[in-house]
Amino acid sequence: MTGPSSLAARAIVAASSSARLKEAVTRAPVTRSVVERFVAGEAEDDGVRAARSLAGSGLRVSLDHLGEFTSDPEVIRAATAATVSMLRRLAAEGLAPACEVSVKLTALGLDVGRSVALDNAYAVVAAAREAGTTVTCDMEDSTRTDRTLDVVRELRAEEPSVGVVLQAMLRRTESDARDLAHAGSRVRLCKGAYAEPESVAFPSRAEVDASYARSLGILMRGQGYPMVATHDPRFVDLGERLVKEHGRGADTYEFQMLYGIRPGEQLALAGRGHTVRVYVPYGKDWYGYLMRRLAERPANVAFFVRALATRS
Ligand SMILES: Cc1cc2nc3c(=O)[nH]c(=O)nc-3n(C[C@H](O)[C@H](O)[C@H](O)COP(=O)(O)OP(=O)(O)OC[C@H]3O[C@@H](n4cnc5c(N)ncnc54)[C@H](O)[C@@H]3O)c2cc1C
Repeated sequence: MTGPSSLAARAIVAASSSARLKEAVTRAPVTRSVVERFVAGEAEDDGVRAARSLAGSGLRVSLDHLGEFTSDPEVIRAATAATVSMLRRLAAEGLAPACEVSVKLTALGLDVGRSVALDNAYAVVAAAREAGTTVTCDMEDSTRTDRTLDVVRELRAEEPSVGVVLQAMLRRTESDARDLAHAGSRVRLCKGAYAEPESVAFPSRAEVDASYARSLGILMRGQGYPMVATHDPRFVDLGERLVKEHGRGADTYEFQMLYGIRPGEQLALAGRGHTVRVYVPYGKDWYGYLMRRLAERPANVAFFVRALATRS
């Protein structure tokens, strides 16, 4: 398996599917403060409050109603309704178009079937259009990459502004970047947060980095709208250099970072004239998201494991 670097990090991502670990983490007293760092809160109001505050400081926002990997029709229906409701709220509060939504297609029914995900995603896209804002489809693990790209292709036939995500850790990404670097195409490039087998993903950090640099070059040279999603100072620098080199105007690309991570750099980048969007997760189903954030940072993992081990 490859994925977020360090053995401990990979172990966390792999172990996060264990029901026992989930229960221990969810119950641990230390969890609440860690969750608060990365998640805006459990209610729609919490997401709106965070969005209003970020938009007030000149940043854009992508709100994500947490939830993923479900086949439960009731959960899928509720997830779709929650995102539609958030879009109406953004319009009512005057927060669109600065604030959009991100969706995970497995929350909208991808694991049940293509047509279920597509119907629900159409409902979200229609609500976004009415609100005057956009939708970006997150990318999940590699067993779902083709199905996600297929649904996005279909959605774009109806609404070309629908955004898609590519993960530099995947061997296929450079080729996908070439296919998607066309006019009007909003593409978020990230490193990738899922544990993947070496057959599909680069095993070393250096190879993932090289893939990120190559794919970003393709997107920046292309006709689309690159969304540079990283906290890594080297790729923020590269993004800024490529913007300059290709003479891109501030409305033809953006930088993206996650809520709670490098907030000072988010403002500094915006201060240098770049469009910066913050990905803001909210909702009750924060477990999987939290585990991926912990896995990205060995220091967070060590701290968390120690706290869990010493709880009485
Ligand atoms: C806006 C956005 C959307 C994303 N969407 C997706 C998606 O759809 N699919 C997907 O697979 N992945 C997604 N990701 C996650 C991404 O794939 C990476 O896992 C994540 O961004 C960490 O990689 P990095 O480029 O920030 O570099 P890293 O090398 O991980 O981090 C660089 C530096 O950033 C800081 N940092 C990074 N992570 C943390 C953290 N958790 N806690 C504290 N500090 C940290 C540290 O200073 C670190 O040294 C998204 C990321 C962003 C920013």
